[in-house]
Amino acid sequence: MRHVELIKNVERDFAVTPDQIKKVIRDFHSEMREGLSGQKSSLKMIPTYVERPKGAEKGTFIALDLGGTNFRVLALELKGNRTSEILFSKKAVLRKDVITASGRKLFDFMAHSVKKIIKIHATEPDKTRNIGFTFSFPIKQTGINSGTLIGWTKGFTAGGVRGKDVVRLMNSAFRRAGLPNAKIVAITNDTVSTLVSKSYEDPACDVGVILGTGTNACYCEKVKNITKSRFANFTAGEMLINIEWGNFNKLRLTPYDRLIDKFSKNPGKQLLEKMVSGMYLGEIVRVVLKEMSERGAIFRKTDKTALNKKDGFKTEYISAIENDSTKELYHVNDILKTIGVSKSLYSDRKAVRRICRAVSKRAARLGAAAIAAVVTKIDPRLLKPHTVAIDGSLYEKHAGFSRDIRHALCEVFPTAVRKSGIKISLTKDGSGKGAAVIAAIVKNARDRVARD
Ligand code: ADP
Ligand code: MG
Repeated sequence: MRHVELIKNVERDFAVTPDQIKKVIRDFHSEMREGLSGQKSSLKMIPTYVERPKGAEKGTFIALDLGGTNFRVLALELKGNRTSEILFSKKAVLRKDVITASGRKLFDFMAHSVKKIIKIHATEPDKTRNIGFTFSFPIKQTGINSGTLIGWTKGFTAGGVRGKDVVRLMNSAFRRAGLPNAKIVAITNDTVSTLVSKSYEDPACDVGVILGTGTNACYCEKVKNITKSRFANFTAGEMLINIEWGNFNKLRLTPYDRLIDKFSKNPGKQLLEKMVSGMYLGEIVRVVLKEMSERGAIFRKTDKTALNKKDGFKTEYISAIENDSTKELYHVNDILKTIGVSKSLYSDRKAVRRICRAVSKRAARLGAAAIAAVVTKIDPRLLKPHTVAIDGSLYEKHAGFSRDIRHALCEVFPTAVRKSGIKISLTKDGSGKGAAVIAAIVKNARDRVARD
């Protein structure tokens, strides 16, 4: 087969038609309903015990944010009038040995990072510190301040954590680190934090989405629709539901997706995440390029072994490649050299750019389909305005991604998107800030109980 046809085949494989988007929406709705009623579903639909803030919460709170790539510690001052200010925000990179050894090592690493950071910034070191914890892995909650790890995702394998309450593990690590006053009062995940952070400013926000190392979302559901549980001590009429949408599996997989899944740490799981999130997009491109080069369609004049290295093609390269507007695609050439493909023809570079485009466009369109499904689950006829808060570097830094999401949403709901009935809002630092807002909600509720 000529290389042009091979590329076209790949593009066809990765295309997501408007009809496919509609099918994803329908399947999402039925999986969501089944998850809410406790039936078997690829969507866990986890109750979070969090309601939206009122916008009047006040005070300074610390938040921890364990994502997939970084661990962040920040302090947020809530002014009580829907505005807030970050007082400090510091991150520590999670080394591979920290996330794959023992749970104790991971939690001690976090506690020591907190100790170092608050030591530099502390103003009132002796006060009890009510800390919000954004923990972006599936947990089963029985209340706002307890969460049992269901299973790791995003390459984490730290032993001895599954089935344990991560709030207790964190509080014990604080004590071991010599921080007896530090205490987690609320645990949440990045989607919930992102939604809460945005909705402190914007009352129309009812969906929170993460597009970073992994992908997931949460939304605001009526408690009466969450028929699988009864919620003692939770009196609000609505509760945020953590969808865990990365595990959605009613999807058309390409042979490349099957390969990625087979060689992943969690085969058969997180299929949507494996087609959409930053952890996998570069790897999909690598697998496609490897196959094309083995069939002699590209890189004929160079050593191809460079493409054999798992995770050797970073997701960051995709946006750099798509943005290369130089005549000879010099930046693509540089990136290919970086990964060890020393010689490339102009036709090779054009092919690489088309593959990157196909892979990232599919990811954005599937992400848009999932967003459309969640918004219409809340409001089937789109009678009210909805703000969708999105956090994560894939959305923030990959310019083509947000554009493709918007285009896809316009295809499905032309009028709603144009008339701002659906607003997409980049909520930078949302996954950190929201945990501080939730700590404030918890403190307000406790103060109320103490007063009554
Ligand atoms: P986390 O998921 O740990 O909270 P981020 O939201 O920062 O962290 O997401 C990090 C992921 O985003 C990286 O693993 C990478 O896959 C992706 N990413 C970072 N920069 C870019 C970029 N310029 N283009 C595309 N993807 C990116
Ligand atoms: Mg994050």
